[in-house]
Amino acid sequence: MSAAIQYYSTNQKSPKVSFGEALLKGLAPDGGLYMPDRIPTFTKEEIASFSAMEYHQIAFNVFRKFFEGEISDSDLQTMTKNAYNFEVPLEHVYDRSYVMRLDQGPTASFKDFAGRMMGQLMQHFLKKANRNLLILTATSGDTGSAMANAFYGLDNVKMVILFPETEVTDRQRKQMTTLHKNISVVALKATFDDCQALVKQAFTDKDLDSLSLSSSNSINIGRLLPQIVYYFYSYAKLRKQGVDEEIIFSVPSGNFGDLMGGVIGMKMGLPVKKFVVAVNQNDEFPKLLTTKQYAKIEPSHNCLSSAMNVGHPSNLARLIELFGGNMDEKGNITSQPDYVELEKHFFAQSISDSATKETIKEAFEQFKLVLEPHGSVGWTCLNNYLAKHTVSSDQLMVTLETAHPAKFPDSIEKLLGFDPELPASLKGLEDKEEIFDLMVNEYPVFKKYLLERYSK
Ligand SMILES: *Cc1c(COP(=O)(O)O)cnc(C)c1O
Repeated sequence: MSAAIQYYSTNQKSPKVSFGEALLKGLAPDGGLYMPDRIPTFTKEEIASFSAMEYHQIAFNVFRKFFEGEISDSDLQTMTKNAYNFEVPLEHVYDRSYVMRLDQGPTASFKDFAGRMMGQLMQHFLKKANRNLLILTATSGDTGSAMANAFYGLDNVKMVILFPETEVTDRQRKQMTTLHKNISVVALKATFDDCQALVKQAFTDKDLDSLSLSSSNSINIGRLLPQIVYYFYSYAKLRKQGVDEEIIFSVPSGNFGDLMGGVIGMKMGLPVKKFVVAVNQNDEFPKLLTTKQYAKIEPSHNCLSSAMNVGHPSNLARLIELFGGNMDEKGNITSQPDYVELEKHFFAQSISDSATKETIKEAFEQFKLVLEPHGSVGWTCLNNYLAKHTVSSDQLMVTLETAHPAKFPDSIEKLLGFDPELPASLKGLEDKEEIFDLMVNEYPVFKKYLLERYSK
């Protein structure tokens, strides 16, 4: 058995830590992101064996490589079974082109995949250390509900979610406010940025140290590793047995956590021919590849694929690191990555809102394929790649669909003329009791709320 994997900071200043420590810390003390100091690999035989496995079993096999020595097999098995108790449909479109629907979790978003496993992992390490955390999170809608569902009912974690009173849809609000138990929800009479500012201020307030505040944001290594699994899963289920074939993935991207999962999978041995990196008008990554210069987009463009409106993806620091360069937390590239390697693995493009809408119509007319705006960006970008490159009709291709079309009834109704049916997980919200507090945008009020509820 090789030595256990440790986790280093991309800023190189903080000491290496175990996975459990990296998970509970989130951000490294030097402001960098945690990365494994070695990427474990699978043999071809191991990858072939996944074809006969269920999703949670593949997840177990992937995580085992990273958590060896830290989590027992039986505990890990229980966690993966708890986290992954829903379907992962692979919808056939034409030839060997598929759409992987990552929208069957409790909040119908691909963020359920990362959140649910992260919740299990946090609970495991907190229980072991006999510790509790209070997670504070600000949300403009989707991340809050995915994380609330992921942490709901856990013993050692409590959560307070802040959302802007008038900026989330009724359904998004109900997904958070009907849970109760360890999940508390506050509607702020202010904007999303104000919510974030209050949370940030609380994290730096020494008076709140005794509350053990933490965050669940996407820079946590515990949210990244679960996003490796569905790349292996789709390859294992769709490949031709006994043939060494390569796969093309199209990944609609915002903060690049999803894409990073695939890239780590490739480094573990998954035979990926190309990653089609699909972004909306926030095009800092395609620009980086063509100009070798990085410029954040501030403020980010407000596009239809709203969960991808990111002007400075925090996971870029990890990607650049894996390709031999370095980027600090402000977005300065302190050493250049290997652009030849980046070109080899990525085809990146920005897709406009009008193309996004056009594709939703075309995909339905041509294939009866129902896409929502994020998946449509991915499908459009794949088509653009195929228009420029010759691939055989036997080429295996998978586009990731990251949300359920029923979460965007307005766009779909306008473009396709019907309302997609709600997935079972989102039905019945109407009849559940909502509990939340309404709060003015004043830090002392928020602070008092936290101290009164959570001081022992
Ligand atoms: C968060 C999100 C994305 C973007 O994923 P990243 O990991 O941030 O690149 C895409 N689609 C949906 C629906 C999302 O919620």
